Amino acid sequence: MIPFEKAWPYDLLMGDVYVPSCPFCNADNVLIPLKPSELQDIQDGKKKLLVFPCCRNKVTLIDADRDYLLTDRVLRRGAN
Ligand SMILES: [Zn+2]
Repeated sequence: MIPFEKAWPYDLLMGDVYVPSCPFCNADNVLIPLKPSELQDIQDGKKKLLVFPCCRNKVTLIDADRDYLLTDRVLRRGAN
């Protein structure tokens, strides 16, 4: 289990990694500069700086599972 408030869902589509929405600017279906092979590196403990192309906000990815990226930042507070 990864901490929900620091996690963000992602989708893999045709070898690209998308997030359904940006946690910072709410852009829809953002293609993020991350390769599926890098997801494996992250799961193996390698940290990766992710810059959202929509708004240039940055997070550090510290873990991932099949559905979520775990970051070092709180991306949501409670339900909204
Ligand atoms: Zn954004």
